[in-house]
Amino acid sequence: MENSMEKIRLGISSCLLGENVRYDGGHRHDRFLTDTLGRYVEYIPVCPEVGCGLPVPREAMRLEGDTDSPRLMTIRTRQDMTERMEAWSKQRVKELEKEGLCGFIFKSDSPSSGMERIKVYNEKGVPVKKGVGMFARIFIKHFPFLPVEDDGRLNDPVLRENFIERIFVLKRWREMMMGKQGRGRLVDFHTRHKLLILSHSPRHYQSMGRLIAKANEVQIKELRAQYQSILMEALIVKATPKKNANVLMHMMGYFKKELTSGEKQELLDLINNYREGRFPLIVPVTLIRHYVRKYNQPYLKEQIYLNPHPLELQLRNHV
Ligand code: SF4
Repeated sequence: MENSMEKIRLGISSCLLGENVRYDGGHRHDRFLTDTLGRYVEYIPVCPEVGCGLPVPREAMRLEGDTDSPRLMTIRTRQDMTERMEAWSKQRVKELEKEGLCGFIFKSDSPSSGMERIKVYNEKGVPVKKGVGMFARIFIKHFPFLPVEDDGRLNDPVLRENFIERIFVLKRWREMMMGKQGRGRLVDFHTRHKLLILSHSPRHYQSMGRLIAKANEVQIKELRAQYQSILMEALIVKATPKKNANVLMHMMGYFKKELTSGEKQELLDLINNYREGRFPLIVPVTLIRHYVRKYNQPYLKEQIYLNPHPLELQLRNHV
């Protein structure tokens, strides 16, 4: 399914692609991002420090002062780069509006590109890890709904799956938005994403259901805006083994008549083993996908939950 899609466009800190743009002339090439995820995405590289006109190599910088609005200072010669970086970043995010980005992957620990827990030094030279890189802050403020992550957090399998799931959902959402303006397409999108949403947040699932139920009473533009906002908020909530197991049990209910008691028990065992951390999610999902195909279950075969991202990424293979 996903391979036939046009590639997802993601912004990325240039040094993660292996570009020699760091202050010391080096890079921070991330092989997973280029060699594996790179098969499905087209990267738009952004290096704020080189972009705002600084050379390679250059003097190292750091954030200083107030954690909410720090200054960007060179460490040795004490040059203040704040205005320069801010002006360039504000211009760059406007240009990025045209790129149709579905997310951004930032370089961790950078005073320009880091999205969280960046060191901000106080007047005594003591760092507090509470800052946001200057470009990252402006980007996130400008694109509040876009999924963002950094290379460090993406090493966590749960955060990795969550981020990649969100960028695939956003891509489908954008494609849906490009089509006709009718409510039917939005209702169809929602129907196909129902179980995926439920695996993240039953609370958002309920409020989205209420929104869809009164779809005819809301202006289509307003309906789309409200739906997108709740959708992206819902998907940030982490899917847990407990919530996934509830969704799997729900799906099992569609095969009450078809499965023998032995087959039901086998599936139940797989779900319980997954919930208790002995099997990865891919194990019960694979068996359910098999039954969906075998019995051609019409509602489940459309569920994105069973196929949210390419299998080759192996995002559901961890325990
Ligand atoms: S962390 Fe950001 S500013 Fe630093 S080299 Fe990488 S892309 Fe450039």
